[in-house]
Amino acid sequence: MPETYVHKFDTPTFKGEISVPLGLYIDGKFVDGSNGTTIEVINPSNGKPITKISEGTPKDVDVAVAAAQKAFDTTWGLNKNGFERARLLQKLADLMEQNADKLAALEALDNGKTFNWARTTDVDHSIRCIRYYSGWADKILGQTIETSEAKLVYVRHEPIGVVAQIIPWNFPLQMMAWKIGPALATGCSVILKPSEFTPLSALFMAQLIHEAGFPAGSFNLVNGYGHTVGQALAEHKGVEKIAFTGSTLVGRKIMEAAAKSNLKKVTLELGGKSPSIVFDDADLEQAVKWAAFGIYYNHGQCCCAGSRIFVHEKIYDQFMQRFTEHTKSLKVGDPFDPDVFQGPQVSQQQYDRIMGYIKSGREDGAKIVAGGERLGNEGYYIQPTIFTDVKPNMKIVQEEIFGPVCVVIKFKDDDDIVAMANDTIYGLAASVYSQNVTRALSTAHKIRAGTVWVNTANMLYPQVPFGGYKQSGIGRELGEYALANYTAVKAVQVNLHISLS
Ligand code: NAD
Repeated sequence: MPETYVHKFDTPTFKGEISVPLGLYIDGKFVDGSNGTTIEVINPSNGKPITKISEGTPKDVDVAVAAAQKAFDTTWGLNKNGFERARLLQKLADLMEQNADKLAALEALDNGKTFNWARTTDVDHSIRCIRYYSGWADKILGQTIETSEAKLVYVRHEPIGVVAQIIPWNFPLQMMAWKIGPALATGCSVILKPSEFTPLSALFMAQLIHEAGFPAGSFNLVNGYGHTVGQALAEHKGVEKIAFTGSTLVGRKIMEAAAKSNLKKVTLELGGKSPSIVFDDADLEQAVKWAAFGIYYNHGQCCCAGSRIFVHEKIYDQFMQRFTEHTKSLKVGDPFDPDVFQGPQVSQQQYDRIMGYIKSGREDGAKIVAGGERLGNEGYYIQPTIFTDVKPNMKIVQEEIFGPVCVVIKFKDDDDIVAMANDTIYGLAASVYSQNVTRALSTAHKIRAGTVWVNTANMLYPQVPFGGYKQSGIGRELGEYALANYTAVKAVQVNLHISLS
């Protein structure tokens, strides 16, 4: 039997104890990994270990896939009607609501995001997402279709079967909700692999899923590393569909493994290098605040982070003065301090990666006008950082940094800006700031990205589809669109009175 870890919190924003199961969750039970090995979970605020979770293996993946298939064939899938699936999802959302502060505290502890942001964005959004998909569970409807002959033809949207879902560390709870919401609503059986860096909220959620009463095997969780458990899921012939959120590099590996194994269906939510475009007729004060929120929210660890800020030359100096002041005013520190905007980056690896990009920006001759340094002696804290005087081919302009680092670039006219904004391999999101609706919308339509925000940034809703153009991904999550990822379309033709002679 795997252990349970109890963490005692005594912080300004959260006090209390939270217990988290440390095993894998397979076939309705928490179990140890087949090798008996563990993975250390590190606190990004101080770099010290919090606890150890069971490490899953490809063998555990086999067991989880078999359990998921058994559930699909007997107690889940077509055996559980939409109304019952809706009720279970509602129960889960209720339990999440009852444990909302605990979920936020686990996110702050494990990921380093602030408790207050986690509570008001990650947790609330995740609860809404589960409720939203509970609403769909009994409304997954096909069509009847007229043909030229005397037939009854109807289309069923059936659950696709066993699905694997691999998620990253930047929004551990939200990414889980985005994935399991539509999958469980449609009746698919799930095997979830959380990031090895941030498994705690997913393990806590597995407990809530158990308590809500989902049938054994309908939801399974296998902790583990990407190259072992993740790869085994991508290659598994018993998995009908894989949904992945993470880097573009790993997304390619997932597609390759899917192609080489059983041609499982693939959806990918990948990286970004999103532009924020500030026109000269923007509300300057608001544009400064939203552009800052666009890059610095969640410590820049957002796939849709507005990391390239383009500012019209007429207002560039004014913008830069205010944006620099605003950036310098953002408080970085303990995620449980209510006044802190930005906590530590998630891991030593990410810290090193971001500092590497800052170094490369300096070496390439870009100018740092704010930040650029580590904060404190322990934990992975980095100052919000602005680069100017950049060239289009610099690494800091082209590559996803995934940290609180942006480049600000001057532009002259509306025709140039669209080409500049689209000059990236990515196409996840963009923001446009202008008070002229025609200018804003005509630009929005020309940007090659799955989401364009006008006079806002980073706003996501369970009802609104999200996903990427170009190398930012394949398919859409959220909204009604996500249901198609988890359903197979079956046409049934009934012969009414056509005889063969
Ligand atoms: P990552 O690609 O390194 O890891 C993501 C997940 O994939 C983890 O669970 C990891 O264990 C697993 N993994 C790693 N190698 C694997 C392999 N060979 N086979 C199968 N699984 C494997 O990404 P990350 O560092 O955790 O997250 C950051 C990235 O995620 C960024 O590029 C970011 O833009 C992207 N992201 C995208 C979205 C989106 O919606 N488009 C949302 C969040 C994050």
